[in-house]
Amino acid sequence: MTSRTHDLFAFASLVTVAAYYPPASLNLITAAACLVGNIIGSLIPDMDQATNRLWDLLPGGDYLGKFFKKLFLSHRTLSHSFIGFFLLYHLLSWLLPKLLNSNFINVSLVISAVMIGLVSHLLLDAFTEEGLPLFFPLTWKIGFPPLKEWRIKTGKWFEKFIVFPVIVIYLFLFFINNKGVIISILKLSKF
Ligand SMILES: [Zn+2]
Repeated sequence: MTSRTHDLFAFASLVTVAAYYPPASLNLITAAACLVGNIIGSLIPDMDQATNRLWDLLPGGDYLGKFFKKLFLSHRTLSHSFIGFFLLYHLLSWLLPKLLNSNFINVSLVISAVMIGLVSHLLLDAFTEEGLPLFFPLTWKIGFPPLKEWRIKTGKWFEKFIVFPVIVIYLFLFFINNKGVIISILKLSKF
């Protein structure tokens, strides 16, 4: 999947989870950090590709991207697995409370938003023909449907004209059907 599709699906996943499990409290900074964290989470798994958009944002990103590609062995290994998920979760749980001031930001909400972005990425990738190496270092890959030929080819017509528009329509319908909850969450953060 392209990063555009991943971003949008991550956002759709975030608002869906937020509507079903509304936060008890939320301020504007936390809401903004959750949105940014969610997008970053959705891009993290593909950081093993030197072309990843996240690298463009960093000075020397080109070089770092190539280094990371070597570190991750090849595309779609550690970063698309259960082990990668737990490593990232523990890294964030250790790092973010040190970086963010918990008087102003609800760090656990931000971590949840990042992890939702990551899970949404893995979920979408399972529908692509490459499959998902969830049990890395085992080489077995998960894919839906099981027949590889029926799965989505990244960046091709099915993703552009079916998957992407379907997520847009889903978001639209979701906002209409869950207006009340969404407005109450927005009110929490005093938008
Ligand atoms: Zn991926």
